[in-house]
Amino acid sequence: MTATRPRARKRFGQNFLEPAWVTKVIRAIAPRAGETFIEIGPGRGALTRPLASQAARVIAYEIDRDLAAELRASGLPNVTVIEGDFLETSVDLPATSHQPPDTLRVAGNLPYNVASPILFTLADLYAQGCPIIDATVMLQREVGDRLIAAPGSREYGVLSVLMQHSASVERLLALPPGAFRPQPKVHSVLVRLTFHPPAPAVLDHAIFVHLVQAVFTRRRKTLANALLAYPGSGAKGTPALPAEALRRAGLDGTRRPETLSVAEFARLADIYASISP
Ligand code: SAM
Repeated sequence: MTATRPRARKRFGQNFLEPAWVTKVIRAIAPRAGETFIEIGPGRGALTRPLASQAARVIAYEIDRDLAAELRASGLPNVTVIEGDFLETSVDLPATSHQPPDTLRVAGNLPYNVASPILFTLADLYAQGCPIIDATVMLQREVGDRLIAAPGSREYGVLSVLMQHSASVERLLALPPGAFRPQPKVHSVLVRLTFHPPAPAVLDHAIFVHLVQAVFTRRRKTLANALLAYPGSGAKGTPALPAEALRRAGLDGTRRPETLSVAEFARLADIYASISP
């Protein structure tokens, strides 16, 4: 057996879950017999082992070559270890199984430095038809706050709008820094995202995403002003000047972007989608 490396690799966001917390986290994830899990960042397998013993199968994505090798060497029969960056690895179910599962659940104690990109990747996978039902993940508390933030609050932003558009978000557990080794400087939360078809549906998902990203780069400006950051605004040959788009969407251009609900962003994005050349 390979000796466990004593030091955690900071650049991979390695904060390993202490054994005392494993049961609580697994109970909150609530794996059931027959389910297939994708685990992001299995590390030394703190969650992988109990998941594998309660569910049918775990497909674990680990960027750290040594940890991936250790986990693979531990020979868990229903665990497939995929070595690589989850952000760059396509989730290719047929390649990992003779019988691709009908549904997938996601779990992970996420590397905090890339937690938001991982969440966006999960939403993209869901949008592309990957059968993800939910994702139960540990995150920095501030990221959890952004996920559940309501319009008008300080935490409300791109992450809130884009994730709430295709998932409902629940906070399940608060974890202090002492729940991990080495201890992070921040507090953590366990959240569950339950994916659903985008609500409300939008005409063009890419336009919706780009528009939300663009206006939040100017969150302190008025909506009319912030919309100028969106390249589709006033593009040559389109009538997409902010004032016109706002009038059609029935939105007051003096509002701040951060006050718009997900539904209002969707309405505005649909105006641009309908007038794009
Ligand atoms: N699941 C383990 C636990 O709870 O003890 C480890 C959690 S640790 C916070 C994050 C894990 O994700 C580490 O094992 C790290 O090497 C891995 N990791 C970091 N970035 C990754 C990425 N982009 N893709 C896949 N794994 C990654």
